[in-house]
Amino acid sequence: MDVFESLEKKSHEQVVFSNDPKTGLKAIIAIHDTTLGPALGGCRMWNYKKESDALTDVLRLSQGMTYKAAVAGLDLGGGKAVIIGNSKTMKNEFLFRSFGRFVDGLAGRYITAEDVGTSVSDMEWVRHETKYVTGISRALGGSGDPSPVTALGTYVGIKACLKRINGSDSLEGIKIAVQGMGHVGQNLLKLLSDAGAKLYISDIDEKKLKMATKEIKAKVINSDDIYGLDVDIFTPCALGGIINDETIPKFRCKIIAGAANNQLEKERKHGKDLHEKGILYAPDYVINAGGLINVYNELQGYNREKALAQAEGIYNILSEVLDVAEKEGVPTPVASNKYAEERINTKRKLNKTYVGQKNLGEISQRTGRD
Ligand code: NAD
Repeated sequence: MDVFESLEKKSHEQVVFSNDPKTGLKAIIAIHDTTLGPALGGCRMWNYKKESDALTDVLRLSQGMTYKAAVAGLDLGGGKAVIIGNSKTMKNEFLFRSFGRFVDGLAGRYITAEDVGTSVSDMEWVRHETKYVTGISRALGGSGDPSPVTALGTYVGIKACLKRINGSDSLEGIKIAVQGMGHVGQNLLKLLSDAGAKLYISDIDEKKLKMATKEIKAKVINSDDIYGLDVDIFTPCALGGIINDETIPKFRCKIIAGAANNQLEKERKHGKDLHEKGILYAPDYVINAGGLINVYNELQGYNREKALAQAEGIYNILSEVLDVAEKEGVPTPVASNKYAEERINTKRKLNKTYVGQKNLGEISQRTGRD
């Protein structure tokens, strides 16, 4: 793989590799863009088959974080880390402390958090070595589980889409199919139920379905049948890649709006296909930014009410993105990318990129740690 050619393609600022034979740490941190602030993004632990797969993943994911933070109006850039290894067998305190020292070496240009394969407790090991970590438990002064905040952002995002189509954002009697009854799905189900929506749910895990329907009235649908259901809104809260050549012909809904990451299997093609089919698609990284908003608030001294209020702002942000799409007649993912790029480019003209050490005092003031 030609490393510099790959960095140039997506305009990455910096990619750093760490190899620590004492702990077995093999990790890569990619800083995509720090125009808006320090690069924040989770640390994924995955058993990549090839090292080049790990590099491709970290480059792709870090770029996604730049766009997500920019659209959400946060003073953050985009970054991501990957640890190469099996998260079921290789995790221990010293591996994550070594990763913490790696993060610390970047002097605040990159701030880490949990992601697929890592957890709050792993980040607490990281915190022994660096203050540049978020997603710590509430008990230790962090922001804790981001899912309720993500669910709230998704809920208001669904309402913004509804307003566009119906002229009213009332959910009373609106038929919604929610795929995935995990952390976000169950929190969202409660909000939708309280607002009077008629709910249909699916999950591959029977236990999750039982938990979800314990107090909330929702009709359980077979996993494969959820796509073709005659509903107003389809809400993906499980896996990525579920909007594809196979599922698009099945959709009968007017809106697709949910929390799952990377919903479009091929962003450009499938975004265009939905646009042509007349389905309003809420770009995933816009509507699911509540989790990022939550950890951003942790950097500033966590206040739950403030984080929730900021997540509610997703209603207006998504409405603005939909305005751009409507005005320019483009698919919504094209509009959201444009919206993000405009914010970055404006800021780029006004200031320089984030320089780390210079701003160290500012960060420790915000985190209350030093
Ligand atoms: P989770 O693992 O708690 O829940 C996912 C659920 O989806 C599980 O219950 C799982 O059984 C179910 N599932 C898996 N395959 C399925 C299928 N084929 N059909 C139906 N259900 C299926 O995850 P989560 O934290 O609730 O996150 C859900 C999605 O939202 C993920 O894509 C995640 O990346 C994204 N997201 C989450 C947050 C957050 O704050 N947790 C933030 C941003 C984005």
